[in-house]
Amino acid sequence: MKKLDATQLLPCPFCGAAVEVGEEIERIGRNRHRIVIRCSACPAAMELVFSQASHSNLVSMHRDMMVEKWNRRAGATT
Ligand SMILES: [Zn+2]
Repeated sequence: MKKLDATQLLPCPFCGAAVEVGEEIERIGRNRHRIVIRCSACPAAMELVFSQASHSNLVSMHRDMMVEKWNRRAGATT
């Protein structure tokens, strides 16, 4: 799995540990692109799988959306 830059991600909301983010391409049948945000210390994880993008900016768009969701905290005012 290719490692991505995790500096813009907040720590795990459950245990406070740093998170890792990676992406990989499955080549079983139709190519599928997988992006995973995963806590380094507990089982918390977020995963998104989609058909491999023909446009590379679709990948970064999905990734930006995941980062935004991961960083969202229920009850946060901002
Ligand atoms: Zn955690």
